[in-house]
Amino acid sequence: MKLDSLVRTLPKAELHVHLEGAITPTTALKLAHKYSHLGFVNAVELMQKSISIRSFEDFHSYYQVCMQLIRSAEDFALVVYECGRDMMNQNIRYREMYISIYQHLHLWEKNLHLQDVFDGLLLGCQKARDDFDVEMQWIFGIPRNRHFSSHNPRIFDSTIATKVLDYALQGREYGVIGIGLGGNEVDAPPEPFGNVFQQAKQMGLQSIPHAGETDGANSVRGAIKELQADRICHGVRSIEDMNVVKELAERQIPLDICPTSNIRLNIYPTMSQHPFQELDKLGVIVTINSDDPSIIGSSLCDEYIAVAKEFGYTIKDLVRFARNSIQASYTSSESKTKCLLEIEQWEKSYLSNTSKMQSSKK
Ligand SMILES: [Zn+2]
Repeated sequence: MKLDSLVRTLPKAELHVHLEGAITPTTALKLAHKYSHLGFVNAVELMQKSISIRSFEDFHSYYQVCMQLIRSAEDFALVVYECGRDMMNQNIRYREMYISIYQHLHLWEKNLHLQDVFDGLLLGCQKARDDFDVEMQWIFGIPRNRHFSSHNPRIFDSTIATKVLDYALQGREYGVIGIGLGGNEVDAPPEPFGNVFQQAKQMGLQSIPHAGETDGANSVRGAIKELQADRICHGVRSIEDMNVVKELAERQIPLDICPTSNIRLNIYPTMSQHPFQELDKLGVIVTINSDDPSIIGSSLCDEYIAVAKEFGYTIKDLVRFARNSIQASYTSSESKTKCLLEIEQWEKSYLSNTSKMQSSKK
């Protein structure tokens, strides 16, 4: 069997994917036409060619478009349901999706309420479970840059972060498992968010911030120390300080790595310079993710294939990354056991097919 069909059938989880950046191309176009008065049809068509993204700023402007396309409970349900179909096609058994909840509710006057979001997520998720046999849970993101004064980055106001925490707490019964921290890390360090993350953890939510993507190892150190990160989105630039790498490995804090996203957003010029393999060799738990597949133009399967080709990973390694993705997730223990068993069965059948092929060649 070829690498792409092996990767496609391998059962796995995806832990770092933004709902807004995972709108399938068909759904994005459908919503752009539904809200044609917003004038996003052209932007969506361009986005689907994904040729114009060369920086964090380019990415950000497409991301804003995607966020504006989802405007009602019905839209959330549709986006989630179609994400579920995409999961089935890639055999992604479980996803933790990052949602920019604050922007949805407070920017652009969508007249959208928190309950609409919950209703949409619940309905989309139930339908996806019934039709595609997949599971999803949510991480509510705090937009870090909105907390610092543009005139003086030392002036910090925690109002929005506190609001997001409140939304996440209300969302626990709808599958919200944690809070995140997103946006450009430059001039928006993690430390001032310490109190909010501490409260979140005391209330049983997970701490899953972005760090070490647009800023270096210091940002990861802050996320570990002050945000008590349970898992870190990206974290790749921890490689700039071996003490931070050591801490990640010793404390077994997994990194949700999104290789192609890092190349497209110019964090690393080429895949050969990406530290994925180095971090893996140094004992950090790594998982593979697509971040914003529709904007970046790379699916989770593409990511597995890209790291396999670049770093010479074997199928056994890819199975290990799939296992990491389940073990580092916050799905229920029954679902973890079930997914790990599926991986084990997949591996057995792969090994028996390979040995059959070898003996038939002899
Ligand atoms: Zn992200």
